[in-house]
Amino acid sequence: MTTAPLNSQIDSPLYFQPALSENDFRLLFTQHPIPMWLYDPISLKFLLLNDAAFEFYGYTPEQMSRMTVLDIRPESEHERMIAAIHAETDFGKPQIWKHLKANGETIEVITYGRRTNFNDQPAILAIIQDQTEIRKARNEISQTRSLLDSLIKNLPIGVFIKDMQDSGRYVLFNETASAITGKESAHVIGKADHQVFSEEDARNFITQDQYVMESDSVFTVENEIPLRSHSRHVRVMKRTIPSQNGEKPRYLIGLMEDITEEQALQAHLTYTAMHDSLTNLPNRVYFSRHTTDLFSIKEAIQSHALLFLDVDHFKHINDSIGHAAGDALLCQVARRLSAFLKPQDFIARLGGDEFAIIHPFDPENPDHRQEIGHFAEEITNLFSKPFHLDGSPEYVGCTIGVVIAPEDGEDIDTLLRNADLALYAAKADRRGVYRFYERSMREAVEKRHRTALELHTALQNNEFVLFYQPIFSLTTDLITGCEALLRWQHPTRGLVAPDDFIPIAEDTGIISAIGAWVLRQACQDAISWPEKIKVSVNLSPVQFNSRNMLDMVKSALEESGLQANRLELEITETVLLSNTEHNTELLFELRNLGVSIAMDDFGTGYSSLNYLRTFPFDKIKIDRSFVSNIDNDKRNLAIIQAVVSLGSAFNIVTTAEGVETQEQLTRLKDEQFGEVQGFFTGKPMSQRDVCDFIAGYDG
Ligand code: C2E
Ligand code: CA
Ligand code: CA
Repeated sequence: MTTAPLNSQIDSPLYFQPALSENDFRLLFTQHPIPMWLYDPISLKFLLLNDAAFEFYGYTPEQMSRMTVLDIRPESEHERMIAAIHAETDFGKPQIWKHLKANGETIEVITYGRRTNFNDQPAILAIIQDQTEIRKARNEISQTRSLLDSLIKNLPIGVFIKDMQDSGRYVLFNETASAITGKESAHVIGKADHQVFSEEDARNFITQDQYVMESDSVFTVENEIPLRSHSRHVRVMKRTIPSQNGEKPRYLIGLMEDITEEQALQAHLTYTAMHDSLTNLPNRVYFSRHTTDLFSIKEAIQSHALLFLDVDHFKHINDSIGHAAGDALLCQVARRLSAFLKPQDFIARLGGDEFAIIHPFDPENPDHRQEIGHFAEEITNLFSKPFHLDGSPEYVGCTIGVVIAPEDGEDIDTLLRNADLALYAAKADRRGVYRFYERSMREAVEKRHRTALELHTALQNNEFVLFYQPIFSLTTDLITGCEALLRWQHPTRGLVAPDDFIPIAEDTGIISAIGAWVLRQACQDAISWPEKIKVSVNLSPVQFNSRNMLDMVKSALEESGLQANRLELEITETVLLSNTEHNTELLFELRNLGVSIAMDDFGTGYSSLNYLRTFPFDKIKIDRSFVSNIDNDKRNLAIIQAVVSLGSAFNIVTTAEGVETQEQLTRLKDEQFGEVQGFFTGKPMSQRDVCDFIAGYDG
């Protein structure tokens, strides 16, 4: 590197201070971090370069000593450079040039030229500023800016910024904000609220802004913005932009969200959660919310009736015509009901085929009960016209349970439960009617519930007793067997008849355990009777569901030692109605044990002759209702005669139940009935009495 001293005649006061020594200048020049050099304006050769220049360009001092200022430029720049030197445009004013580094890379630089002297020769000082880096940085900044700009512009939420030190004028109002408010950004920016929005809106906005600025807190508000075609719901959140230097904030930023759709969706969700999708009626959730609200008012609970409506035979329609028809029926029912009801009535579909109607009445009216009854009747009348299902007219009825508040319940749960009981009672009565709730209905349910509980302890405490009713052969006049009839020796209620507890035992399932006891006890008791006398035991259809029924019969016979052919099992046709295959199989297995099977209560149900084909019964017991007025009713007699001929055709023993008079007995004998059983020939009696009875009769 050339080490000649720098000449102090370089004229710019910017670079040379007269107070500095020559050594200082040299040091400053060579060690200055900015690349610079001196060159000869005639030969264009480099005269002096600093360390930064060598480092920046990458040429060695030897290379540089042979090079001219043209050599560090691409060919394309040579002419301009020469012209610039001649015209002296390269001096005084910074210029942008392309330079070549030693590695061949073209770079962009700004040069600052100064005319000066070096070693008493004219020279030019050039200071180089790398433009590539600056440009890159500048590009980056501007890219970041435009990225931010387009981000803000395209944000899906509205953004605005107000300068609160300039009357709250808008300095930013993005496109989404424009779309939400319907105000063009160009018209908003630079203006304050009162120049853009209505007077009332502007006043509100300013109050909000003041609050935000003073409290320095976040403020959120939901506004409805009326636009030309539709109004939109907008949620706006405002807060200050914290200032960098800890001063009072100057700007307020607002974020704006269009929540119209969100609200519509919310409303839709609320609607679907509260309505039944099939009929569009309020659903159970809506019903309980409505009634809870309504009955929180004391007057309301004293002036409303609840009607609990159930579509008759709905399951039948669903099963036979199909679910689509079932749905159509429910929709038509809903429409009929809705069309009939007044605006003050409230209707909901509680589920399935159940509807609830809340009907207000005037408690001052002494006839309000009649009025409600009339209302219920009108509703049942709505069902008198056919419904159109699958193209064909169908007649479907309804049943209604009615409760009146407050006497039938002071809260909706009690009212609903009691309405359900009234409905249940109405159904038991006759279809297609309404019934008011009565206290006795609840008492019956409670009694039923109590009985169900007591049946469990009854079994443990041995409270059951078997009575036996003798059965006579009409051909031999001898006792052929005795039917075991169950009694419950209740600790407080006395002797309870089976009709009062067997249906309950069947509902709860405890009938299986009771039935097992009956069977064991009956077999044991029969052991002490003469061998030619059989014992008949009633089996509940429910018992057929238990897996071990066959084993139960077997072990009852084994434990007692009773011969199988002395046991007769009485079943009703219900056994053959349900789960037919399993039940028929079981009947055959029982019969294979050697026991005989009797069809009980013949004539009361479907009495399908098919049953006689399905299973070869040993005996048919005709229900006592046919015997009771055998003398007066020709049809009963006809049935009796039919059963007799059936019996002889199929070789089945026929037994008539409920024989109460001599006349009946004679008649049955004349008709050649096989056997009789009844109060006239022998009432049900205890084991001890029946033993005496048998002994007395035989003896
Ligand atoms: P069922 O099997 O038809 O029994 C005959 C019923 O008729 C008995 O009533 C009997 O007392 C009654 N009876 C007999 N002769 C006459 C008469 O001349 N006139 C009148 N009015 N009634 C007469 P009970 O004992 O009250 O039994 C009622 C029903 O309870 C039975 O009807 C039977 O279905 C059921 N049952 C009785 N014991 C059992 C049992 O151990 N298990 C099952 N599952 N059911 C039983
Ligand atoms: Ca029976
Ligand atoms: Ca019977």
